Order: sequence, then C-alpha cells, then structure tokens
Amino acid sequence: MFGRVTGITETMDTATDSGNVKKWPFCTQAVILENNILREILKVTSIPGIISFAGGMPAEELFPYEDILRAAANLLEAKDGASLQYSLSRGTPELRQWIIENTPSTTRLTLESVLITSGAQQGLDIVGRSFLEPGDRVLTTTPTYVGLIHAFNYYRADLVTCETGDEGIDPDDLEAKLSSAPAKLIYLVPSYDNPTGHTMPMDRREAVMKLAAKFGVPVIDDNPYGDLYYDGNPMPSLRLLNPEWTIELRTFSKTISPGLRIGWMHAPEPHLAIFEKMKQATDLHTNTFCQRLIHEYCSAGLLPDHVEGLRTAYRSRLAVMLDSLEKEMPEGISWVEPKGGLFIWLTLPPHMDSEHLLKLAVEAKVAFVPGRPFYPKDGAANTLRLNFSNQPEDRIKDGIARLGKIVKRDL
Ligand code: PMP
Repeated sequence: MFGRVTGITETMDTATDSGNVKKWPFCTQAVILENNILREILKVTSIPGIISFAGGMPAEELFPYEDILRAAANLLEAKDGASLQYSLSRGTPELRQWIIENTPSTTRLTLESVLITSGAQQGLDIVGRSFLEPGDRVLTTTPTYVGLIHAFNYYRADLVTCETGDEGIDPDDLEAKLSSAPAKLIYLVPSYDNPTGHTMPMDRREAVMKLAAKFGVPVIDDNPYGDLYYDGNPMPSLRLLNPEWTIELRTFSKTISPGLRIGWMHAPEPHLAIFEKMKQATDLHTNTFCQRLIHEYCSAGLLPDHVEGLRTAYRSRLAVMLDSLEKEMPEGISWVEPKGGLFIWLTLPPHMDSEHLLKLAVEAKVAFVPGRPFYPKDGAANTLRLNFSNQPEDRIKDGIARLGKIVKRDL
C-alpha cells in the first residue's frame, strides 16, 4: 500500500520513472533511496476523523506551551544576539553543560564528549557517514527501527539481523554473526524499543557490551525513550556498562517537543571529534535558538516534573490500550506488555497480512503501522505496531474496538 522500504534493491530503471529524475544528474543513492515509509504513513493520520495509532508522536495537548512561550520571550526580550546567531558545531556550551550535569555516568563527562544534533535521527546519519562504506555489515535486531534502515540504506550498509526475542537481541547469535564476518557497528534500541516496546534485561546488556569490546565493534544505543519508563525502574544506558564502545543517541523529542529537533550524542572525546566534522559538512550546527530555548526551559528546573507528568499520562494510556486489546482482540493475537516507550507490537496469526488489514482499518477510520517496513530484509507480514501516546483514552478504546472488529472479520 505504501511501497516497500527496500532502499537499495530497486534498479535505476524502475526508480527513475518520473520525469525530472531522468533529466537531472542525481547520484545513484539519491535516486534509488525510497521515501521513509513512516513519513508516508503519517499522511494517513491527517484523514479527518481517523484514530491514528500510527505515528510515534507525543501527545500534543501535553506540550509545555506556557513554559516554552516564557522561555522564548525571555530569550528574545534579552535581545542577546547569541540566541539568533550562528553557533558552535558541537552545540551551545550551556546546553551541553546542562546535559552533562544531568546525565548519569560512570566516567567524567566533559563538554567535548557531547555533540548536539538535529534530533537523534541526525545522530544516526552522522554515525552512518562516519563509519559506512557500501557493503559494510551492521548487526541489529529483527525487527529494527525503520529510521535506521532508511538512514543506513543511504550508505548501502548490509543490515544483518540477529535472532531477537521479547528480551531483545540474542547474544549467542550476535556472537556467531560477529565471528562469521567483520562488522562495523551494532545498532540497538535496548530500552523500550521502537517498534516492539521490548526492553533488554541487564544480563543481555552486559553480554552485548562484552562482545562489543571483544570484537572491537561500537554499539549504537539509540535511546529516545529512556526517560519514559512506567514501572518505576529506568533502564541504564549501555554507556554505563562500557563507555569506550558505546555511541549513545538521545533526544528531547519525546520529552519536550519533536518539532524543536534537538537531540544529542554521547561518545568518547576523540571519536566525537570525527562526528563533529561530519556534522559540520551537513548543517554547520543545530538550530541555535531551539538549543537556547531548551536550555532556558531545562535550567529553570522544569523538565523533571514535566516528564513525570508524561509518564503518568502515558502509563494510563498504555493501561487503557492493554485493557482494550484484552477485551477486543480474538484468540491468536499476541503482544508483550511494554515497560516504557510509546509502542505495543502485535503478532497476528501467520496467515494474516497487516498491510491488507491496514486498508480495511483506514476504511473504518483507524490506523496503525504494518510490521514489514521494520524488517531490513524479509519481514513478518503478520505483525503491526500500535502507538498509545498520541490519543486520549476514550479514542484509544474506540480505536481498538474498531480494530478488533476488523481483525475478527479478517481472521
Ligand atoms: N531513534 C528511534 C528509535 C526513534 O524511535 C526515533 C523517533 N521516532 C528517533 C531515533 C528519531 O528521533 P528524533 O525525533 O530525535 O530525531
């Protein structure tokens, strides 16, 4: 329905059908890379009246409008040119300072070990452009984050999936794959995964970091959801287990606002200098005003209470969605209760196809993301992702009831 995220598998001929692309001398990558399917699916969410569980979007009514307004007014009323001026590629020193003071660490974090990025997604691109030559192996889970597939397809990486269960990547299979051929990177979302909602327990985290050090392969801990835990037990970043081999990607997208596009990276100082160079070539630096806005907001001490409020709201939305699924879904549909994040991953009976189901769902004005795009190669067509943060509780009940009816009909 939305086209396949194959990225590099299409031939130039099929991908260059549309007029101008034939005439202009675009590079191969630009022509063969397909649209990020999630951006395509987000278009569905704008159909009037649709109840969308598709995007990974925070709840708009919970954005801290008043506090952001005050922070922006403070900055602009001060008429401090630095707010609207070019700034350092590393990021504004005040925001980096706030980040290192508010980040748990087993080592001393310095200003030079933090790089501000335009969202965590830019962090992925910077890592890709810093490491990857065509054909380089990157080991990851199955399924994995669709934005990673898209970002690394551009660099023509070979995304190799390891066996993955409810507790994340299987360390034995990871070891086998690391032993069988060299790999450049390991990519994981160990805390409240996108798309599955799964969380890696401590023993697996330790096993993975031991393997990273043994084989000399850096691990990307893509960690946008680390603060959104609902069981009172935040999971530690992989960086705390082995800072030498971890690239941690963080973001304010899920805690303050994704539209401001402010994220950051933690990596050891010498390696971060490489990432900084790669970022410079792309955008010189991240939006100065938004960095200062976020710093103004965070340094006023507003973030902890705000995030606590989000955890409370999302915890009850999650509970409502889980209850509704219990009530509305027929036998044979399964899911694992997430401990944090924004997503529930559903597995349907093997004969069902969630892309077909989505067509029926959109007719009934409810949307989700089919599972297939989250698989770098062949995907399980009988899986789908539901987001529970973006709809109020009554609409969650209504939407899951509609979905339940369609699933029963299509079973
Ligand atoms: N990584 C993962 C696992 C995500 O879920 C997302 C957001 N969907 C991102 C990265 C990108 O986040 P940002 O908005 O900070 O670019």
